[in-house]
Amino acid sequence: MVKQEFMQKAIALAYENVQKKGEPYGAVVVKDGEIVGTGVNDVKAANDPTAHAEIQAIREACRRLNRTDLSDCDIYASGEPCPMCLAAIYWAQCQTVYYAYPKDPSESELGSAYIYKQLALPANERAIAMEKVANEHPEMNPFDLWRELNRN
Ligand SMILES: [Zn+2]
Repeated sequence: MVKQEFMQKAIALAYENVQKKGEPYGAVVVKDGEIVGTGVNDVKAANDPTAHAEIQAIREACRRLNRTDLSDCDIYASGEPCPMCLAAIYWAQCQTVYYAYPKDPSESELGSAYIYKQLALPANERAIAMEKVANEHPEMNPFDLWRELNRN
C-alpha cells in the first residue's frame, strides 16, 4: 500500500464513523507498509473524552507491537490532530503525521485553537486551575522510589 491508500483507509474509517452517528475522525498507524493500528473517534459512545481516533490507533499499534515506541511508524488521520493527539504522537515518537483535512478555524470555542492558547499561558493564567498539594507522607515518595529502583 502507498501513502494515498493509507489516507483513504483513515478517511473511510471516519466516513463510516459518521454513518454510525460518530465524529468524522479516523486514523491508521503504519509500520513497514502495513497497518498496525486503526481507530475512530469514539468519545460519545465510550463516554471517554480521550477516545480520539489517533489515540485509539496508537493504543492498538502499541498493544499489537508490544511496545510504546512507534518511531518506525507513520500515522494517517482524516483530520489534523488536536493538541492531545499531537502530544500522544510525540510520546509515541511517530515519524510522520499525514492528515487530509486541516482544523476548521471556525471550530467551537473549546476546540484545538483554544487549547493551544491555554497551553501557551503560564499555569496560573489558564482557565483550569492547577495547584500543587504536598505529600503528607514524604517517606512514600513514588519519584524517589522510582529513581531508587531504576539506578544503574
Ligand atoms: Zn485528538
